[in-house]
Amino acid sequence: MPRTLKYLSHYSNDIQQQVMKLIKEEKLQSYLLGQFPVPHEITTDKALRQYTLALKQQFLKKSAPLSQVKYDDKIHIVNNALGLHTYVSRVQGNKLKSKNELRIGSLFKKAPEALLKMIVVHELAHLKEKDHNKAFYKLCEHMLPDYHQLELMTRIYLTEFENNGDIYL
Ligand SMILES: [Zn+2]
Repeated sequence: MPRTLKYLSHYSNDIQQQVMKLIKEEKLQSYLLGQFPVPHEITTDKALRQYTLALKQQFLKKSAPLSQVKYDDKIHIVNNALGLHTYVSRVQGNKLKSKNELRIGSLFKKAPEALLKMIVVHELAHLKEKDHNKAFYKLCEHMLPDYHQLELMTRIYLTEFENNGDIYL
């Protein structure tokens, strides 16, 4: 039984207590299954790449190109719950080229589509805004109007995942 909810520490006491109550009553998994009955089918790097590029094409046409999009099982949820955007600088010929890679934690391979979308939108928004500032969240909401609600659900999902693994047993 966790005493604190680290993924939810920035949310109200009220929300934290509701989640804590579900954990105590062992109802968090069924609550999440009620919200998200089936997992998505975007389970390969290729499918993830297509999914991500479609969103990028729709909302961020002019942003920098993405050299790589993939699931990464080295992204541990404790270290980086919200994915990892890396900017790799490589020397090509005599030029230093900066490449944008987008990596999503492998735990999202078997997860609700809405939550995968929230993570992808979050990472895509970083192509334009490096920091979690007002402009960043505005961009997230532009791509996904219920972004904030879904970020909360993702954090609740991560809480359950860390205790019991994915909800689709
Ligand atoms: Zn971020």
